[in-house]
Amino acid sequence: MENNNKTLSFSESVNYMVDRAINVLEIDTGIASALKACNATIKVSFPVEINGKIEVFTGWRAVHSDHRLPSKGGIRFAPYVDEDEVEALAALMTYKCAIVDVPFGGSKGGLLIDPRKYTRDDMQRITRRFARELVRKGFLSPATNVPAPDMGTGEREMAWIADTYKHLHPEDINTLGCVTGKPVAHGGIRGRTEATGRGVVYVIREFFRNPDDVINAGLKPGLGGKRIVVQGLGNVGYHAAKLLDEEDDCLIIAILERDGILVNEEGINVENVRQHINEHKTIKGFPEATFSENAAAGLEIECDILIPAAMEAQITGKNADNINTKLIVEAANGPVTFEADDILRNRGVTILPDAFVNAGGVTVSYFEWVRNLSHIRFGRMERRHDELRGARLLQALETMTGKTPENWMQDELVYGADELDLVRSGLDDTMRNSYQQLKEVMDNNDKVTDYRTASYVVAINKIVRSYIDIGVY
Ligand code: GLU
Repeated sequence: MENNNKTLSFSESVNYMVDRAINVLEIDTGIASALKACNATIKVSFPVEINGKIEVFTGWRAVHSDHRLPSKGGIRFAPYVDEDEVEALAALMTYKCAIVDVPFGGSKGGLLIDPRKYTRDDMQRITRRFARELVRKGFLSPATNVPAPDMGTGEREMAWIADTYKHLHPEDINTLGCVTGKPVAHGGIRGRTEATGRGVVYVIREFFRNPDDVINAGLKPGLGGKRIVVQGLGNVGYHAAKLLDEEDDCLIIAILERDGILVNEEGINVENVRQHINEHKTIKGFPEATFSENAAAGLEIECDILIPAAMEAQITGKNADNINTKLIVEAANGPVTFEADDILRNRGVTILPDAFVNAGGVTVSYFEWVRNLSHIRFGRMERRHDELRGARLLQALETMTGKTPENWMQDELVYGADELDLVRSGLDDTMRNSYQQLKEVMDNNDKVTDYRTASYVVAINKIVRSYIDIGVY
């Protein structure tokens, strides 16, 4: 492994981290190269008329792997995306899917645009045109390549993409499966929007269910009362922080946003901040915390858990020495660079890595895709049946004991799971299982002492297995 102290590109940073796992596994160098290589990347430039003038937009879609199909991964709309970034993110998708046993390859797309500068109608025409380019070039279909939301995109864009595909392939009975993260009324699944943030919390909860791991990280067991700093209150950061605040009794002591930072040692009410942002488009002026403009300094605040949930390369060789936390939970993709990762590991900071931590999004995307292919909502067949069984069980209990159970017991017993319950249960199970897989690698391999290497060992083992089973042709 060679690193001449130059600043690495995002792809290089990911590959160097993957190399650590490759070295541990001592896998064949040919297979290692095949594993890391990005299979295909297209770049498209297309014109769209905006306010009577032609503007040319540029976008990319990278397929990192297709050992499993479809290849899966979001599309981001951002003013700074480029080919290297899209390829790095596509690689992360490959590992992510393998870690959480989602049977997909890895892909990612990006469109160079600042969505805030365009109207809804403009965005619709731009998105539809981008989708057409992807379809025509074979980079969008339910069978081979399925996008999803990412930075700067959401349900709205996914609905436009699905509709564009449908018009180009009206004969395809599975058109809805061409993209995930759609609105529920248009083939989406309940629980997809919150999935990545909720998955982050399921990971943290599982970590705290393992007191030895918590103590190893230098923390006291018990998630309640932990002091947390969150960077980014977008879709992922918001849902993660809100759950930790409302359900786990954590103290969100600082929230870092594009325009500054909010600090309150007593804990910040996340939902109130979100309402404030919705109303004022800024965190400035939020009455229940102290505001200051230097958001970057917020990463260095002393805390128990730091959750970077904004974007890549936030913790780098420059600030890694000043990070003052025990545990970093990477809700964003690539927030810690390779250089920073090295420094932090040497300093004994525990990092739960992106490819595992934020895989809740693609996990629920998988559920959505399965739902689209089966053309039926999860729980539709069994829900009332389960309720009926519960009611009969309750009757039997009453007859046998002569007592009436308390109301909450009755409610729990006579309940059939709906789609949201099933999605959350599947997500929780997935994140817990994967955590245990990482743990097993760390417990059984002296060379693996950090969760990132463990996660890549888990992923690479599975991917290499499929290369060996299928062969290369
Ligand atoms: N963009 C999300 C990610 O980075 C979701 C990908 C998906 O659902 O396909 O994981």
